[in-house]
Amino acid sequence: MSADRNRSFKAQKVLQRLGEKLSRQIAGSLVACVHCGMCTNSCHYVLANPGDPTYAPAYKADKIRKLFKRHYDWTGRVFPWWVKAGSVFSDEELEELKDTVFGKCTNCRRCSINCPMGVDLATFNRMARGLLVSVGIMPEGVAVVSKDQWEIGNQMGVLKEDYLETLQWMSEELQSELDDPSVTIPVDKTDCEIVYSINPREVKYDPRTIADAAKIFHFAGESWTMPSECWDMTNFGLFSGDDDLGGAVARRLYEKVIELRGKKLVMSECGHGYRSTRCEGPNRARFDIPFDMESSVLTMLRYIREGRIRVDKRQNSEPVTFHDSCNNARSCGMFEEPRELLKLVTTDFREMHPNRAENFCCTGGGGAMSMSEYTPRRLKSAIVKANQLKATGAKVVVTSCHNCVDGLTDLIRHYKLDMQVTQLVNLVANALVVPARVAVPVGVPAEVAAERPVEVPATAPALAGRTIVVADDEPDQVTWLATCLEDHGARVYQAFTGDEALDLSRSRRPDLLTLDLAMPGKSAGEVFEMIRKDPALEGLKVCVITGRPELRKTIHARSVSPPEGYLDKPVTEERLLRSVRMVLELSHDGR
Ligand code: SF4
Ligand code: SF4
Repeated sequence: MSADRNRSFKAQKVLQRLGEKLSRQIAGSLVACVHCGMCTNSCHYVLANPGDPTYAPAYKADKIRKLFKRHYDWTGRVFPWWVKAGSVFSDEELEELKDTVFGKCTNCRRCSINCPMGVDLATFNRMARGLLVSVGIMPEGVAVVSKDQWEIGNQMGVLKEDYLETLQWMSEELQSELDDPSVTIPVDKTDCEIVYSINPREVKYDPRTIADAAKIFHFAGESWTMPSECWDMTNFGLFSGDDDLGGAVARRLYEKVIELRGKKLVMSECGHGYRSTRCEGPNRARFDIPFDMESSVLTMLRYIREGRIRVDKRQNSEPVTFHDSCNNARSCGMFEEPRELLKLVTTDFREMHPNRAENFCCTGGGGAMSMSEYTPRRLKSAIVKANQLKATGAKVVVTSCHNCVDGLTDLIRHYKLDMQVTQLVNLVANALVVPARVAVPVGVPAEVAAERPVEVPATAPALAGRTIVVADDEPDQVTWLATCLEDHGARVYQAFTGDEALDLSRSRRPDLLTLDLAMPGKSAGEVFEMIRKDPALEGLKVCVITGRPELRKTIHARSVSPPEGYLDKPVTEERLLRSVRMVLELSHDGR
């Protein structure tokens, strides 16, 4: 691109950098728009500002597109008036562009999924932000946060001593809450299964989420640690468009996990942190990741499914709804896991509409919370979200994103909604069934005590000392069965597929497996036959619980001994207990 004597230095740099950033994906989106307008009403800014065309996605996109057309597309050079090609010359024009790309779009990608031509405005809007940032044109808040993340290592400028002090404080809170001095938040432990990384907002404004996560890890018996440095899994490069920052921040965290020899990086509930670390970070950092990465939403769900923690959903009985973070849901496809978890730990879940990929932004996305000059505009557009929330009738809105927590809290206050915001980690910790602590006689080492057979007192509940695996693909059914059996003293592990039923039977050696006949993965018939033929599982009793009695033949057709019990759904607590006791008594009298 040739230099122009009338063009400012910054404008010149922006246009030059545009050419360097033109990937196939961005160029494709820049040429594909046919101005059909089908994306228009997908944007919350448009819906909140009827009659103002400057908020329309295609209008905003054209401000960037015209530069591409003028300088990098042949149509713009030959027919500039026809394809509306244009350029920038002054710093004032760059400031105007800043107002659009930072102040009129949260990069939520709702318009992107509604475009029949596959135009992803959010992707090239982010790129345009990066062009401006590269010449120092950005909202002040973006500059401050980026500087903190570059220089201090986290985007809220939390100092190392404050971070470590907060972890210590939360450890002490937990020890006193649980009356157990062994509960700690391990720091810089090597060779753990999990390295846990968080959003700095948790240290600064919401340390209870750290304590709640620690409580869950503790009761799951997890081997875990938090790093003393490079612990921030958020990445402001996603919002500012600065790819160098994006790559450097992701790399720091990856290298820390390797240094600690962690097997898995688990990220607390943060949409943009998850997207930038799990989904986009490896490419930005040009890094081959030698460990697994997982959102804590999946970790918590896994613990419940595997029976590593037990929950009592009755502890969370207020009506709740769920807000999909744009980054977790629309950009990373995490739709069902949070809902499954929510249904396991709350009694009154109400879906918000529209939801999942079509959900509306909390209006705090794209770093909007750090750009105070656009607050009135942001809150005006938040009427769309406020109406969505109000229509659910819920008292609590749950979200797996710290950014959304702030965005939603702000709009709830502004529109005076009778509602609170919380996260899944808080609900899971609140529903956690804390096992009673067993007194170890003085002088007996803990590991020896752990090996001793459990003595069941005469007054113990009917199923005390029994271990049962409950296998069913319906989470509600599993929770109900598990709760009934636990109420009668059994230790219960939960399986949701045939494979999980088999794995848990092998690893937990239960006295009884309750087996649904219609589950995903391995069929119940296969699981049953494998159990019967596995010498290590000899003596395991099986009670088939099914709503489809006609499927019993899939078990009977196999040349192995039949199950010890059958129970047809719907099951009552009384029938369940009678059947389970009958099946287990077989082992007492040796039949
Ligand atoms: S971005 Fe897509 S939906 Fe929007 S005007 Fe262009 S072609 Fe139509
Ligand atoms: S990305 Fe979101 S905020 Fe931006 S124009 Fe599209 S719908 Fe509107």
